[in-house]
Amino acid sequence: MNKDISITKCKLKKEDTVKVLAGKDVGKTGRILKIDRTKGRVLVEGLNLVKKAIKPKSQNEKGGIKELEASIHISNVMIVCKKCGVTRIGYNFKNKKKIRICRKCGDVL
Ligand SMILES: [Zn+2]
Repeated sequence: MNKDISITKCKLKKEDTVKVLAGKDVGKTGRILKIDRTKGRVLVEGLNLVKKAIKPKSQNEKGGIKELEASIHISNVMIVCKKCGVTRIGYNFKNKKKIRICRKCGDVL
C-alpha cells in the first residue's frame, strides 16, 4: 500500500500561517481555517477559492455565485515563520512541555 505519510505527520494547527507551494495560488500565504487530518487537507483563508452556485433559499433571495475556500493537500502547504518565512517545524521542550519551533531560527511557532 502506498500510504501517504504526510497525513499522519501533520504538524500544522488551526490559525497557522502557511504558504501554498502548488496550484493556482502558489506563493500566497494565508491562515488555516480548518484541518482535516483524516484526509490530510487544510482550508486556508482566502486561498484556493472555487466558485460555487448558490441556490436561493426563498423567493426574495437571489441565487448567485459565491467564492468558497476549497481544501489544499497538506503536502502543498508549508508553515511560515514570522522571522524567516517558509520553514520546517521542529520540536523543543520547555518546562517539560513539547513546543513547536522554527527549525531555522528556533522561535516558537
Ligand atoms: Zn524562523
